Parts: sequence; structure tokens; C-alpha cells
Amino acid sequence: MNGFQKTAASIGLACAAAALLGQSSAPPAPVVFGYSDFTAEAKIESEFLAIPDAKLAGQHLKTLTAQPHLSATPEDRATAEYVAQKFRAAGLETEIVPYRVLLNRPIEQRVEAYNAAGELLMSGPTKEHVEGDRFQDNPRVTMPFHGSSASGDVTGEAVYANYGRIEDFDQLAAQHIDLHGKIVVVRYGNNFRGIKVYLAEQRGAIGVLIYSDPQDDGYYKGDAWPLGPWRPETGVQYGSVQNLSRYAGDPTTPGVASTPDLPDSARLPADKTGNQPHIPSLPLSYHDAAPILKALTGPGAPQGWQGALPFRYHVGGTGVRVHIVSKQDYALRMIWDVIGKVKGAEYPDEWVVAGNHRDAWVYGAVDPSSGTAAMLEAVHGIGGLLKQGWRPKRTMVFCSWDAEEQGLIGSTEWVEQHAQALERAVAYFNVDVAVAGPDFSAAAVPSLKQFVREVTRAVPSPLGATVYDQWKIAPKEGNPNRAPAAPEAQGEVRMGDLGSGSDFTPFFQHVGVPSTDIGSEGPYGVYHSVFDNYDWFQQNADPHFVYLEQMARVLGLESVRMADADVLPYDYVTYANSIATYTATVRRKAQDAGMGGLDFAPLEAAVGRFLAAAQKVHGQQLAPAGDLAKLDKLNRLEKLNRALRQTEGAFLSDEGLPNRPWYRHTIFAPGEFTGYAAVVMPGVSEAIDSRDTQRAKGQLEVLTRAVDRAGATLNGAE
Ligand SMILES: [Zn+2]
Repeated sequence: MNGFQKTAASIGLACAAAALLGQSSAPPAPVVFGYSDFTAEAKIESEFLAIPDAKLAGQHLKTLTAQPHLSATPEDRATAEYVAQKFRAAGLETEIVPYRVLLNRPIEQRVEAYNAAGELLMSGPTKEHVEGDRFQDNPRVTMPFHGSSASGDVTGEAVYANYGRIEDFDQLAAQHIDLHGKIVVVRYGNNFRGIKVYLAEQRGAIGVLIYSDPQDDGYYKGDAWPLGPWRPETGVQYGSVQNLSRYAGDPTTPGVASTPDLPDSARLPADKTGNQPHIPSLPLSYHDAAPILKALTGPGAPQGWQGALPFRYHVGGTGVRVHIVSKQDYALRMIWDVIGKVKGAEYPDEWVVAGNHRDAWVYGAVDPSSGTAAMLEAVHGIGGLLKQGWRPKRTMVFCSWDAEEQGLIGSTEWVEQHAQALERAVAYFNVDVAVAGPDFSAAAVPSLKQFVREVTRAVPSPLGATVYDQWKIAPKEGNPNRAPAAPEAQGEVRMGDLGSGSDFTPFFQHVGVPSTDIGSEGPYGVYHSVFDNYDWFQQNADPHFVYLEQMARVLGLESVRMADADVLPYDYVTYANSIATYTATVRRKAQDAGMGGLDFAPLEAAVGRFLAAAQKVHGQQLAPAGDLAKLDKLNRLEKLNRALRQTEGAFLSDEGLPNRPWYRHTIFAPGEFTGYAAVVMPGVSEAIDSRDTQRAKGQLEVLTRAVDRAGATLNGAE
């Protein structure tokens, strides 16, 4: 337990929350964007906030993490039934929705390494093990493996490639180190693991070992589990090596829902998918990687490549040989999303969707069960409102996704199935790692950044004052899902842009639903390992489950406030300013790349028109109650809301991004070579990266048209 959390526990949530909740019912209601008069809604919100319960959230967490629940296992099915039962108890119209999707399970995995003299250096993988963890020996734990990994039996010389970023591979190439026929050893961190394998394969490697260096999440950071929160010597990071930047979801059905009755003829053959590697890869602990790295000679590794193992790192390629055996059992397997709905009283076709994945690599206490526990308490709160007779104006949909870990599969298949209905969905609120510690953080589409800030101003923090106040004191950006964003207006807390790595991707980047992603972070070194279990969570993340309660309140309040809003609270002025910033950045990038001939003037003009339209609409959104009533009579409120919603959709392009048409958003995508981090204006930016002037010109036109469409759509609001 660290000092910060001790303080949180000793202050106690009860008094802070009571003070805040009591306050919100008495004085005049605050002015809240999207509401002409917030008085009635303020009462509903304070009733909601009183219901989520730390103790109950802790019980959900304990139940959900009692067994390993990898997707498509009986234990995964049991957690689906638990969630469905809680949804039904709250009064949600609930169904368990199955999909049949391509998933692998490891049958056999081995790795051995030999020095130049042919002497054995190591053989593994070694089982994840520490003294005194009561969860690690459960026979239902699947051995650490890579989702979407290829089978193979390969032997080659080992080469160390740091984090396996494009610049790392370029540096090897500059040193004339040829990767053809080699086994690449890389460390976790900095980019999505699927990109590491993709790049290694592109450069000719025949196998990849990805290990956890203690510098990145082990003893270099602090005490290792079970003494502290960091990764121990045998700790391994499970994970998908799908190329998420190509498309998400079932590798055999890009753009199509993998419903159980989908014929095999409608699928890509398992060996011809477009987002899976063709070379084997294994995850390793530093216990297993150290003997290999230590034996490497050849050129010394650049200083930035040196990790925290107690020897000098070398690049290798000089006689240390690695043998990898990987047998993966690929099959179409059944997975289960749980979907719970509350029908909207006024706008039933406008969905407010909130979701979290449920499947875990092993127990997944932090990732994702803290999110599921928080969502269940949010749903508990909604259930309390329903029992008092409240009905939301818009339809609320709560979703428990399956097989997120293998490639956002449960959410993507559901989105692909409901793509048409989702054109009218007003928001998707994601939570994945709800609680790893006390530091709130969030990422969002620019139009919802201010909305998230406002919601957090209404939720008490376990540390006293509000979530917003604590967030502002200590803004943290530890989560790789949350890339650094455009600079914020003065004094505002920073929020990231949406890249990828969680279930908002299909909603936002494939079908254009305005999205947010929230979490509460802290020192967390056991990500995707057997040690991310209930005991770790209680000792390190949230001993009294008060942050689970906090996150239930934030997620639930996002949903309630959006569902009942008079005018959709999208802030397109901020969006326009962000796009102006991105335009300047990309323009500079073009100049730096010697592509100064690219004409950005039409785009800049379009951004100017979009800003003007946004400012005009912003005035309408702020209209006082009387004016809104008038608007309503003329049926113009619905017209205004429709235009506001369609504006986000206008940023999609039908043809999608070059080389990856599944990604259709012209402003945001996961980076082609980063995976987690967002790249802005991806079509243009990545054409510049590859010095392709023709493509950059074409993409600049596509982007300009999209911004103009968005501006015209906003102008249509009158
Ligand atoms: Zn997760």
C-alpha cells in the first residue's frame, strides 16, 4: 500500500460524499451545458449518486475474479450470467448475445537458447510463480500466450531490438543488421505488441520473443509483487498480437458481424486474415529473457536501449541461437456479450451506450473486473432511479463485452451488427481498467472533453472535494491507451485523444459515435499476468473499494446526464479549435519532410468555416429555457439535436483510410505503427511519414471534404 492510498482510506469516503451529496439538493441547481433548467435533473443525479456502494462493488469484484475467465471458457460464461442477473435485477431488458469468432489457445510452447558453442543457456517458459500468491496454482490458469499468434517451429540467431518500434528497427538497419531468418527479442512498452510482431515480420524475422524488462514495470520502479505492486521476476504479460491498426474484431470477418449462423463461406479463411502475424511469438518473463540477453555480443546497444537487468545489453546477431516451438489451437469459438437496455421515453432511437469488457487473460482484477464491478454499481444506481419511477429520455444501453483481450472482438462484432442503428447513438462511454489506483484520467472526442470535466465536478472524491478537483491537482497520463492531446485551454485539466486498445475503437473510429474512456490509475506492474488478482487489487489498488464506487458514479452520471439532456452537450467549438491545432501540426510536419508544396489553404478555410458554424450552434445550445420551449414547438429542437449528432458522422469517409478501410474517421485513428496512441489526421499524416506526395494530396482533399461536410451539417441545424 502506498502513502497516497493510506490517506484515501483514513479520510474515509462516507463524510466527503455525504457533504457533497447533501449539498447538491439544497442550493440552486448549477448551469449545466445541454440543459435549459437543471433543477429537476439535479435531484435525479443526487438520487443516483447516493446508490453505488463500495462494499457491493467489492463483492462484485470478488465474485468476478474467483476463477480465471478467459473468453470462450465455461468460467467466462458464468461471469456473463452473473452480469446478466445483476442487469435484470436492476430492471434492464437483458440478453446474452453470442458470436462465433476465431480464437487461439496454446497447446504447446517452448523456447530454448544456445550460445555460439552450442551450450544450453535457458529453456522455458518458466511458470509464473512467487512465494505466497494463493491464486497462481489454479489448474484453470492458461499458460501465458499471445492471442492471434501463429504456430511454428523455428530456430535462428537472436537480435535485440529494444521496444520494437519503427525507429528501433530502422536503427538496426542503419547498422547493417539484417533480420532475415532471425529471432527478434524485444521488450514490452511504448507501442502495441501486435505492431512489434508486425514490424519484425516485415523486416524478415522468423520469430519474436517479447519480454517484460524490470526497467519498465519491475523492480526498477519499486517493490515487486507480493511485496509491492510491480512485476516479479517470473511475471509474464499475456496479450494479443493482432494488428489492431488494420482492423479490430474477429480476424475472419472485417466489417461483418460474426453471428453464430454466419456461414463459413462468408468468412476469410483462417490463414488469409488481414490482421494476424504469420510468424510465431511468445511472451516471456525477464527471468527467461535475461540469459539470452546476457549472452548477446556484437555491437553495444545504444544507451536508450539499455534496460534494468544487471549487465550491459548488446544487439547480438553473433551466434546466440533461439529455438521457438509454438502450437496454437485455432477454432471458431462461442463468446458472449451481455446487453441490457432501458427504453427511452422521448427518443427511444437515440442510444446512450456504456460498456466494459468482461473477459480476462487470467483473473483480471484490475483489467477488466474493476471496470465490470464499477459498471454493475452504475447499473445498480440506474435501477434505483427506475424503481422510483424515473425513465430516461433516451434509451440507455449497458454492455459487457467478451473477447476484448484478443482484439476488441465482442464489441466490434456487436457494433458491426448494429452499425445502422448506431448512426443515431449519441454517445459511447467506455471503461476498461476502472481502478488501478487513485489517479483519475480520461480521454475523449474533443466535443465531449468539457462534458467529462463537468461530470467529474459533480462526483465526490474519496480524498475530499470532487473527482475533478483531485484530477486537476495531479493529472496523470500513465495509460498507454491515452495519448497526449492538443494543448488545453488555459487552466483546464488535460485529456487525451482516443487512440486504440479498448472497446471505444469500433464505436468511434469505425462508425463515428462520440466516445469517452475513463479510468483511475496507479502503480500497476502486473498488467495481463496471473498476479492481477483479488489479493493484488486489495493490497495495492483500492483496499476499501472506494475508487470502484467513484468510477461507478462517474460512468453512471455520464450516462444519466447524456440520456436526459435537452440539447446534446457536444462542444464543437473545442473540436474546431483542436482541428485547427492539428492542421498546424501536420502542416509543419509536411514542411519538415520537405513537402512544403502541399496546399493546406483549402483545409484551413474549411476549418475556419467549421469554427464559425460551431460558434453559431454553441449559442443555440446555450438558449434559455423559454427559447428552447419555442424551439421544441417548432420541432426545431429535434432538428438541432439531429444536426449535432450527424456532425461527428460527417467526419467519416466512406472509403476509409488507405491500407485500412475499416478505419473511417478522418481526424482520429490508432497510429499505423503505434497501435495504442492516437494519430491525428491519419490519412495525411501517414502519407507524409511515407513521403508519398500524391497520396498526401489525395488525403488532404478527403479531409477537407469531411471538415466541410461537418460544417455544413452544423449549419443545417437552423
Ligand atoms: Zn482491458
